[in-house]
Amino acid sequence: MIDLHLHTTASDGRLAPAALVEAAAAAGLTTLAITDHDTVAGLPAAGEAARAYGLTVIAGIEITAVDDGRDVHILGYFVDVADPALAEFLARQRADRRRRLDEIVARLAALGAPIVRPLPGESGDDASAVGRPLVARALVEAGHAASIADAFDRFLGVGRPAFVPRRGAAPAEVIARIAAAGGLASLAHPGKTGRDDLIAAMVDAGLAAVEVHHPDHTAADRARYSQIARDRRLLVTGGSDYHGPDSGRADALGRVTLPAADYAALAARAA
Ligand code: AMP
Ligand code: ZN
Ligand code: FE
Ligand code: FE
Repeated sequence: MIDLHLHTTASDGRLAPAALVEAAAAAGLTTLAITDHDTVAGLPAAGEAARAYGLTVIAGIEITAVDDGRDVHILGYFVDVADPALAEFLARQRADRRRRLDEIVARLAALGAPIVRPLPGESGDDASAVGRPLVARALVEAGHAASIADAFDRFLGVGRPAFVPRRGAAPAEVIARIAAAGGLASLAHPGKTGRDDLIAAMVDAGLAAVEVHHPDHTAADRARYSQIARDRRLLVTGGSDYHGPDSGRADALGRVTLPAADYAALAARAA
């Protein structure tokens, strides 16, 4: 069983890379991609654990692009993690995440919902990517929010009072950077992102695949993006977007997987 969308503590997942691989093995998975937000720091430890469990781990990433002030997540597979240009780009993405986190925390203090740095789970390590889920958890632990969802609804979501816009690269630039690092770019969870208007331009920029299989996709979403993949000759990717226990999607590990034929086509293109 194949899962090409997994997060670790290198970004906003709750399991360290080795623990994630162990959980994946227990769920019956055999081929994984670690796709942390804007970092590949989890890959070495995941690869080592995968060897111990006899699993295959491929190099992955989930990069946040920005169009018209809205986030567009783009997955990259089979990237060369040692590529210096990619590393430098990802370091800038993470620096903007830290800038944004600082501003979010300052706004929360002004709103009467102070949280203490470092946040629980914030490593302070520049190779790790911080994000709003860390803030959401801190708000819950400090008693300012009832749940992660409540923290996003009242403070952190788009248009909410502690929302701080991201600065970042456009989807076409992100796709080009993934390709320049030898990778295949896939549009993450398009049913959730809601930017089908961008697909044509992304294909022109080198988009190789579309994520059809995702826990937030309905059967209608899967049918729609399968059809788009056929029409535009895109490869198909998929996975659980698992962020660890108590993360809202814990049940998706081992439940949302990628058909073997789709994986074979992706791997053949990468070779
Ligand atoms: P960031 O990387 O700071 O943009 O945070 C984005 C991450 O927050 C996403 O990858 C989701 O895992 C999570 N997220 C976004 N919106 C929500 C929400 N309404 N409830 C729970 N988690 C969310
Ligand atoms: Zn995430
Ligand atoms: Fe995403
Ligand atoms: Fe994700």
